Amino acid sequence: MFDDVDLLVCGAGPVGCTVAERAAHVLGWNVLVVERRAHLAGNCFDSMHPSGIRIHNYGPHYFRTNDEKLLRYLSRFTDWIPGNYIVKSSVGGRLYPFPINLTTLEQFFGKKLDSAAAERLLHEKQVPVAVPRNSEEFVLSKVGRELYESFYLNYTLKQWGRHPRELAPSVCGRVPVRLSRDERYVDHRFQVMPKDGFTALFTRMLRHRKIRVLLDADFSELGRLVRPRQATVYTGPIDAYFDYSFGPLPYRSLQFDFVAKPVEFAQPCVQINYPNEHAWTRSVEFKHVTRQRHPHTVVCHETPQATGEPYYPVPAPAHQQLYERYRERAAEATNEEQVYFCGRLAQYRYFNTDEAILEALQCFERIRRDCAAPRRQSASSRRLVPA
Ligand code: UDP
Repeated sequence: MFDDVDLLVCGAGPVGCTVAERAAHVLGWNVLVVERRAHLAGNCFDSMHPSGIRIHNYGPHYFRTNDEKLLRYLSRFTDWIPGNYIVKSSVGGRLYPFPINLTTLEQFFGKKLDSAAAERLLHEKQVPVAVPRNSEEFVLSKVGRELYESFYLNYTLKQWGRHPRELAPSVCGRVPVRLSRDERYVDHRFQVMPKDGFTALFTRMLRHRKIRVLLDADFSELGRLVRPRQATVYTGPIDAYFDYSFGPLPYRSLQFDFVAKPVEFAQPCVQINYPNEHAWTRSVEFKHVTRQRHPHTVVCHETPQATGEPYYPVPAPAHQQLYERYRERAAEATNEEQVYFCGRLAQYRYFNTDEAILEALQCFERIRRDCAAPRRQSASSRRLVPA
């Protein structure tokens, strides 16, 4: 039934959809995409809540990129609406612009500032650290202790279940600090949302006569039965692929609680962070970014947890070392069996959606190159089918 598969793809998230689309469209390969869940689009999946409001089922995805070429590629599958990514942080019962900007500093320190005065103020507050080794040192060196303790410390403890001292500088380093009044959450050149949602975008990507998709399907079962003629792309957790042979890698999970409210808007912007109150880290009102018009609204509270679906790899040195051991095994699997590992879970990296898609495009180019090289036996002649 599956003897004509050229490329087997495990996972129908942004990475799986991108590699599948490229292989079918550019190379004319027969592609089989195997997805464990009952839907496409991975964690970008969005759908209609029973109230009729579009939600992002696995937390908000604020698409942004600096890469115009990538945007052009994705524009084949979607129109866009402007991103409206505004976040505030609730500290001491007051809402502050977040990331920290000039207005945040004025409100927090109770004085009028211009950029030069704000820079001087931050300079006084900063804890000198030559090269920050972790997220605590990073934030202290940027904004000093008071802002760190008010905006970052408890949020990070809740989000990761770990002290910022245990996390790589890049974790809190994702959030800029600004001396301007720019209130956008991120700095990227293009900040846009797919007009009909992410699910529609990824569904269109896979709408190709050479692509077959199996939902609710177990890769560990199917991967044994299907022998692709060219390659396999695996986008699931790398430790699971190797049966946790070096021990499990830690992931952070989330619980999403969707609350329908009989008001047009329940909060002033898409996201409010609660570093110091509640068990949840943030409340998200999607209508601000989907721009849906509806008399009612839905807000989602996100509560981090240690167990459950793996959403975030945890960027810390010990986990990186463990990942490196799996990565070596993965490199062997690529060379010997043409299995390619790509994406947040397979590369154990904290990618944004645009970064994950760029990785997928690179992965595709690599497969294409490898398959064009004369050295290879076909993948199917090497792979073993266990009894
Ligand atoms: N962070 C924080 N306070 C906030 C928002 C973020 O301390 O109000 C830290 C936290 O450690 C978080 C990281 O910065 O995990 C990155 O934040 P971002 O909003 O980019 O996280 P994501 O949306 O990827 O969960």
